[in-house]
Amino acid sequence: MKVTRREFGWLAGAAALSGVLMEACAKAESPGIGWCIVGLGRISMDHFMPGVKQGKTGRIVALVSGHRDKAEQQAKMYGAADSAADSAIYNYEGYDRIRENKEIDAVYIALPNSMHAEYTIRGAKAGKHVLCEKPMATSVADSRAMIDACRAAGKKLMIAYRCQYEPVNLKAIELIRSGAIGQVQAIESANGFNISPGEWRLNRKLAGGGPLMDVGIYSLNASRYLTGEEPRDIRANSSVIDHDGRFNEVEENVGWTMRFPSGIVASCNTSYGSDMNGFYRVHGAKGMIELSPAFGYQGIHMKAELAGRPGIDMPTPQTGADQFTVQADYVADCIRNNKEPKSDGEEGLRDMELMSAIYKSAGLPGL
Ligand code: NAD
Repeated sequence: MKVTRREFGWLAGAAALSGVLMEACAKAESPGIGWCIVGLGRISMDHFMPGVKQGKTGRIVALVSGHRDKAEQQAKMYGAADSAADSAIYNYEGYDRIRENKEIDAVYIALPNSMHAEYTIRGAKAGKHVLCEKPMATSVADSRAMIDACRAAGKKLMIAYRCQYEPVNLKAIELIRSGAIGQVQAIESANGFNISPGEWRLNRKLAGGGPLMDVGIYSLNASRYLTGEEPRDIRANSSVIDHDGRFNEVEENVGWTMRFPSGIVASCNTSYGSDMNGFYRVHGAKGMIELSPAFGYQGIHMKAELAGRPGIDMPTPQTGADQFTVQADYVADCIRNNKEPKSDGEEGLRDMELMSAIYKSAGLPGL
């Protein structure tokens, strides 16, 4: 068939227009990842949900809570199903009904630690991807069961290690890998806060352990991502100093050292009796990198001293996207493009096994 110049121009225009229309239709059909928020506490309401709203890859379509009033108010605030519709709000007993809600692609588990396994497994069985808060669970066996359930359902499992996606921490890793501070010799890290009485975090059944499970895990995980190695030799001590009723079930302090295969030694402390403003220092043969704070929601700050080179002073870059937006967008990318998350279930499991070894070394029960 012969096509005249004029017809060719018309056809090309139509093709371009249909491309634009198809893209517009695809966008209209794919409004982003539909999130179901499981547990309406501080981390979900103050951080994760605003983070999703700020991003462009997802929206909150459903909520699971034991408090109907709070859930309705949050559903309205985020336009979940455009109202406080019944299909947008579930209680814990009715959670499995999320299976019927096609708007939900992924669940975000933000419950006390001992509930992570059950709600991850039920979420996967309902056919949803899972982003689960740290610590992954309260036992190694539960962590394995979570991985197995998500695998069997063909769904992603990511543990919410937000610092692994945070730009200043990523810069520290890049500097270390590029040899900027020479061979790393030692890491120091601490993370802790002075806990108020009455918190579920002090209840062993709900928390699984004390500050190690809650905030010490940041120093442990950082030691692993900074070295890129898995520790082999762990020695630990724990103590309770304040006999004021807060530490009848969990430890108040844990200090531990880890030796990595290269010989790097990490020394870490965690506490529920002291505000430690979570930090780390990485000492190399040719310099030192300090992140203080290293694990906060904002204001992460790096200072690096490099032999024979100008030092580095790097505050959190003003990109406009907070850590929770970055994390939610990352999960969306993994789901849409079928990528395995960097902080997958296996990553969470490794920390669980190591925390178990830390507790055992300190003379406490393992996980
Ligand atoms: P929170 O106490 O503020 O919220 C817990 C939620 O669980 C509440 O909505 C509560 O109603 C609900 N819940 C259901 N059953 C419960 C029960 N039996 N006892 C107590 N609460 C119950 O806690 P949070 O600080 O939001 O922590 C939730 C999870 O998120 C924890 O696993 C914690 O380790 C993790 N977390 C992560 C970060 C992070 O930066 N990634 C920060 C804080 C907390």
